[in-house]
Amino acid sequence: MIMEIYNYYAYELNSLFKRGELCASEITKAFLDRIDTVDSKLNSFISVYKDHALASALRIDEKRSKAQPLSDLAAVPIGIKDNIAVKGMKMTCGSRMLENYISPYNASVIEKLNSADSVLIGKLNMDEFAMGSSSETSFFGAVRNPYDTNRVAGGSSGGCAAGVSACEVPVAIGSDTGGSIRLPASFCGAVGLKPTYSAVSRYGLTAFSSSLDQIGPVCRCVKDTALTYDYISGHDDRDSTSCSFKGTNCFADLRCGIKGTVVGVPYELFSGRIHPFVEEKFCSFLTAIEKLGAKITRIKLNTSPFALPAYYVISSAEASSNLSRFDGVRYGFRADDYTDINDMYIKTRTQGFGEEVKRRIMLGTFVLSSGYYDQYYIKAVNAARQIKSELKSIMEKIDVIALPTAPQTAFKIGQKLDDPVEMYQNDVYTVIANLTGLPAISFPCGKDENGLPIGAQLIAGAFNEQLLLDMAYTYETDVGGFAKPEL
Ligand code: GLN
Repeated sequence: MIMEIYNYYAYELNSLFKRGELCASEITKAFLDRIDTVDSKLNSFISVYKDHALASALRIDEKRSKAQPLSDLAAVPIGIKDNIAVKGMKMTCGSRMLENYISPYNASVIEKLNSADSVLIGKLNMDEFAMGSSSETSFFGAVRNPYDTNRVAGGSSGGCAAGVSACEVPVAIGSDTGGSIRLPASFCGAVGLKPTYSAVSRYGLTAFSSSLDQIGPVCRCVKDTALTYDYISGHDDRDSTSCSFKGTNCFADLRCGIKGTVVGVPYELFSGRIHPFVEEKFCSFLTAIEKLGAKITRIKLNTSPFALPAYYVISSAEASSNLSRFDGVRYGFRADDYTDINDMYIKTRTQGFGEEVKRRIMLGTFVLSSGYYDQYYIKAVNAARQIKSELKSIMEKIDVIALPTAPQTAFKIGQKLDDPVEMYQNDVYTVIANLTGLPAISFPCGKDENGLPIGAQLIAGAFNEQLLLDMAYTYETDVGGFAKPEL
């Protein structure tokens, strides 16, 4: 049986293209057809740019016919989370506020992907302004999980994870402020990397919480994750928080083998506290890597109970400030029936933002207001500082921390929408990496009793993405690759 084009990984598509066995236009058409067939079930995409994609594919084919140099990402179709600016494409951030907003410029990651001759296919669905853990708060409707379309895809980069898992695109670019790449990757059986804070430029990413936001890849295998990371990482003058290194070489340096790697496991954080299947499969994962040569050691994270509250205070505080720009004057939506400028602001923001975004803005404004600032915001910042210093000293003794990505698997659509605090609990293991700036990866480590994917998470020292990728690659190779949903 001939394998469908959409089933290939990105690195395979690129070599088939370079060898002249497939042209970029064929590859692009295959993925566009796949989107036509499955997206009505999933709602991964907010917008698909067929003509744009086919025109870039033609240009790339021409480049090959002239024997011009081609990158390792050339001809690879890529989907972009809808909070990253692509010139000439809509950027809704999953919100009514930006329903018809068209980006006038490219994010730095987009310029990098364009110069690598990848093919941008369209914009992926997400929780409104990246606030959420289920991709249900999107103005454009919930994203559905490819393993069970009655369940959520995880969030906020749910469109990225569902789209990649269902082979609508081999690669997606998402953002992760408190787990938004890793959580949906774990719910949809994909691989998601949140790079070290500053390793990937955020120029052109719509700011949610600027001290935590990172851009990163979501893919179906570790090789593609390494490959994509190499093409988006590195210094950028246009992001003042950007790191100083030029770029990475994780794909070429990817190695199987984890002998002697010291893995710290904070058992207290999850033992007996999470879905039993998640715990069982995660522990089998630990046994598997131990067999492969890793040294498992018990660690304590004494500051971890502060992580989730600190995250929600800090991220909401920053969001309330970042989102003040959406006032109906300069961007997007404006209510049409108002009496004066104050009334215009009120009606625009009341009608333009959804419930969850309004909740965060109110929470953020509250914790920053005089009288409460010291009690909440400063306290949260101090807690984050303590978590950071505890992790710093732990990381001197071990190589990586291993944790489940989430306490449970994908839940039913609507199940947690009425209980925000319960929804926030999904982020309990992911926010640690954001608060500390450390890189973290999530990849599949089994399935639960309903056949839903479970994710394992590894956190490494700053700028040690290579170790995360090598470990995930070793495990992936050992289990013979990650499964795919039937659709
Ligand atoms: N689920 C978290 C939140 O709702 C994280 C979101 C994100 O990483 N963008 O804030």
